[in-house]
Amino acid sequence: MRQYICSGCGANYDVADQRFRCDCGEVLELTTDWIFEKNKIDAGNHTIWRYRQFLPIESDDAIVSMGEGWTPLVRFSYRDLNLQLKTEYLSPTGSFKDRGASVLISLLKEIGISKFVEDSSGNAGAATAAYAARAGLRCEIFTPDYASGGKLEQIRAYGAILHRIRGTRQETARAVIKAARTEYYASHNWNPFFRQGLKTIAYEIAEQLNWQTPDAVITPLGYGGLFLSMYRG
Ligand SMILES: [Zn+2]
Repeated sequence: MRQYICSGCGANYDVADQRFRCDCGEVLELTTDWIFEKNKIDAGNHTIWRYRQFLPIESDDAIVSMGEGWTPLVRFSYRDLNLQLKTEYLSPTGSFKDRGASVLISLLKEIGISKFVEDSSGNAGAATAAYAARAGLRCEIFTPDYASGGKLEQIRAYGAILHRIRGTRQETARAVIKAARTEYYASHNWNPFFRQGLKTIAYEIAEQLNWQTPDAVITPLGYGGLFLSMYRG
């Protein structure tokens, strides 16, 4: 059974519980993790859901997918390095955040959430807004007022209510945490279901390199969600 476990004090909570963190304030993780087995890949599915057996969604009917994942690796030489670039901009809303949004919004559908709040400086807000629209859920996205105009238009175009918050990114986070007292907070930074979607990048890279491990993986680092998720994968 899927449960949240607190990374600080070890407390357990049901995944249908509408909390984004432990009572002690620490981050929640999932109690179960799945052992990756090559022969359980659904090779005919060219989205992150080819790894369905290792993703924490129980009901097939809950899956919200728009073709995210399975992005090409492109060879690129830089100085003496042979690099391969993962072309995540080919995702439905233009970033790797679609992988996390697909799994997180599928969870919301599964546990019967119809409305949520989220905060983002751009890409995660666009991804969750798009997947919410696809699933027929309502959402409100909190962004810092300095966020990119194009991203804000994208979030609005998906039908989300946008709250532009003055000040730093931290002030936006404070505003959404206040809103989370009464609304489900589908946070791409706090919720482990989002990270479960991101971990598929590691699976894909390994599979696309014919199970040869690369010497190094370079990722951007914001809150560290992508880095942590790829480590897990
Ligand atoms: Zn705790």
